[in-house]
Amino acid sequence: MYIKKNRLLTPGPTPLLPQALHAMMGSDIHHRTEDFRKVYKSVLSGLKEVMQTQNDVIVLVASGSGAMEASIQNCFSCGEEVLVCTAGKFGERWTALTKAFGLKPTVIEQPYGSVVTPEQVAAALEANPNIRGVFVQASETSTGAAHDIEGMAKVVRKTDALFVIDAITGLGTMPLKIDEWGLDIVIGGSQKAFMIPPGLAFLSVSERAWKRMEESKNARFYFDLRRERKNALNGESAWTPAVSLVLAMDEALKYIKNLGMDNLIKNAQLLATATRAAATALGLELFSGKNPGSSVTAICAPAGMDSSVIVKDFRNRFGSIIANGQGSMKGQIFRVAHLGYFDFADLFAMVAELEIILAAHGQPVEFGRGVAAVQNVYAAAALAKETTKEPVAV
Ligand SMILES: *Cc1c(COP(=O)(O)O)cnc(C)c1O
Repeated sequence: MYIKKNRLLTPGPTPLLPQALHAMMGSDIHHRTEDFRKVYKSVLSGLKEVMQTQNDVIVLVASGSGAMEASIQNCFSCGEEVLVCTAGKFGERWTALTKAFGLKPTVIEQPYGSVVTPEQVAAALEANPNIRGVFVQASETSTGAAHDIEGMAKVVRKTDALFVIDAITGLGTMPLKIDEWGLDIVIGGSQKAFMIPPGLAFLSVSERAWKRMEESKNARFYFDLRRERKNALNGESAWTPAVSLVLAMDEALKYIKNLGMDNLIKNAQLLATATRAAATALGLELFSGKNPGSSVTAICAPAGMDSSVIVKDFRNRFGSIIANGQGSMKGQIFRVAHLGYFDFADLFAMVAELEIILAAHGQPVEFGRGVAAVQNVYAAAALAKETTKEPVAV
């Protein structure tokens, strides 16, 4: 009856950058040519630049989990002891992956919505000097919580353990000082803050991690990072790359470099702040209220209401796709993303939609309250700056 535009508001996949999408139409190009090598080299150096690291960044044709697997396969050996920090669905993936490769994980598990602290990591490392690696999510997308990576790095760096970070939704939403903090492996995925479709995973690898790869006894073939590193020197990948996604990534990186990685992070942080303000103004409870990250905000459904109803209504009434809770949190929370190509106009609409949906289900809502909270955050951040007079030069 009404026009409904599809709007992707999920924490992966995220909305596509139009110019990246258009670049994919140039995919009739061969990957062993100078034209493509130029683009591939530009993507590799662009990733280093936006990740702000001197470490090599390796690109794999896989979703983010492929790079998680590659980090374990390449740097560890069957039987080694490792530490997994988990407080959500993606933390559980680290546990499952380490076990799948025959590692012996000590697991620090915190309830969903909470986080593992640096103190807990320090205690576990002290109790077990055989730990060869520490695994964590920078941003736990299933709950919206963010880990204190800097604090954890401080304690991990007192040992020889490799610090492996799933930053798939951490990159572009929080500061991650890879070189300064000594982060050995930092993993990203194309369909999150990088504004392009799923299919590319990438990871920065420290010298410490490259050395560890020589010791690993695991068989490696498709995801052999050493082989990828060697080929990358010539602007090539070991296997046929996802040409269309590499072209898209090159455009997205241009956009991010022009905007500035710090501004991409600030954008997500501001949208997250505004979303929390809106939820609070509407009397809704935040799920990871104590440790909120900026990639995604998880909001509890009002008491007695199933969050699946809210998610469905977003889609049916407005064409907006938001995320439900995962696993045991399905039906309890809904999640709204801020990472990548999101702006305030997206958020004004989303909060206005939410108000209508809540009212349609008999919740007490004063129209405009949540939207006003978002407007106030924008005004405080942007309008205030515009009206500040520049000091007069003398
Ligand atoms: C999206 C995501 C992943 C990767 O999932 P894929 O489906 O393999 O891309 C891993 N960790 C986190 C924290 C994520 O948000």
